[in-house]
Amino acid sequence: MTVTRFAPSPTGLIHVGNLRTALLNWLIARKAGGTFILRIDDTDTERSRQEYVDAIREDLEWLGLNWDRVEHQSARLDLYNESADRLRELGRFYEAWETPTELQLKRKKQRNMGRPPVYDRAALDLSDADRNRLRAERGAGAWRFKLNRARIEWEDLILGRMSIDAASVSDPVLIRQDGRMLYTLASVVDDLDMGVTHVVRGSDHVTNTAAQIQAMEALGSRPPEFAHHSLLTDAKGEPLAKRLNTLSLRELRANGIEPMAILSLMARLGSSDPVRLCASHDEMIEGFDIARFGAAPTKFDPEDLEPLTARVVHGLAAEDVADHLSAVPGALREQYWHAVRANVSRRSEAGGWWQSLAGSDPKDVAEEDREFVSDAFDLLPAPPYDANTWSAWTCAVSDKTGRKGRKLFMPLRLAITGQSRGPEMADVMPLLQKKPGL
Ligand code: GLU
Repeated sequence: MTVTRFAPSPTGLIHVGNLRTALLNWLIARKAGGTFILRIDDTDTERSRQEYVDAIREDLEWLGLNWDRVEHQSARLDLYNESADRLRELGRFYEAWETPTELQLKRKKQRNMGRPPVYDRAALDLSDADRNRLRAERGAGAWRFKLNRARIEWEDLILGRMSIDAASVSDPVLIRQDGRMLYTLASVVDDLDMGVTHVVRGSDHVTNTAAQIQAMEALGSRPPEFAHHSLLTDAKGEPLAKRLNTLSLRELRANGIEPMAILSLMARLGSSDPVRLCASHDEMIEGFDIARFGAAPTKFDPEDLEPLTARVVHGLAAEDVADHLSAVPGALREQYWHAVRANVSRRSEAGGWWQSLAGSDPKDVAEEDREFVSDAFDLLPAPPYDANTWSAWTCAVSDKTGRKGRKLFMPLRLAITGQSRGPEMADVMPLLQKKPGL
């Protein structure tokens, strides 16, 4: 049984970067008919906020990324402490008292000597007397996981064969000096306890993975499959990290971006398959294959969401945009929407054409066209109009004025719709309730 999870820390809003992680995990679970867990990584009590938990749920719901189970790490601390005890018994967990400043200094020295800044395990050499003294002076220490200095290897579903020398990695702190459990151990315990089979996350987690694989093995379990996706960059190839706040799902949603546009782009970005608008979640699941994703940094341009959003809107039915059509008389809604939808790029703008068509304000007509337009309107009978009105009328106007093509059509289009581009005029005419005038 395939089990995946999306494990956000509720310390901020979900942005396009996190979404990619969520989506890939969701797709793996759904494709396999498995389970998708929403796991809230809220052991950092100082930075975690309920409002972000709510926002994460709401954003995922908006995108239709449904979960089968939700878990909160803050409610599972006993389990993590049991595993911490187990690691202590195994001699794989040790207490260390260095302050951040001391650690920084050590790293600086190591760098100056051309050595990698790996924690020197000084705490392992402390005598019992030293420990007692440090505990008395500094309180409880931080707890570090003692890595086995061997190569840590796994077959990454995206990066391929991975081999990391544990000697190049610092023994990770799993419990902080203030007693707070870090996500690193909590995640190991949860992934094992919840039977997670695949972990997809950003490539910034590769070193964590190496340590977590050893921790899982120490706890007597087989690690899941790992897949590390590349990180997003902007169009110029610069890391997107700094701009991610403006690319929150909240923001995109407020800007009228359609969920299917975001999902379709994110399901393909960084893979060898071309981006294609999916009509449904099922279609997206059907076409998904994690093996098609590559290691290279992935460019993300928010502009790419525009044409995809427009295409979603073009395919909507009148009832999908009913909220925005309240100004359009009920009997005309279908007809109106079919006439204009190819010229609307946001759901929220669905009623926009009605305002220009129904408004009686004279539209901008160029001075040199005023007489022509006035003569043309003289040849137009009163409504109702039908699908033939436009061609019959423009033929009559052409006969009378000798104008043809663009010079004939454009001033009339402008005078009626106020726009130089837009829906077919043959479709527009039947929508007019009043005879247009100058
Ligand atoms: N809470 C972690 C994060 O947001 C989860 C990483 C993971 O997927 O294991 O980075």
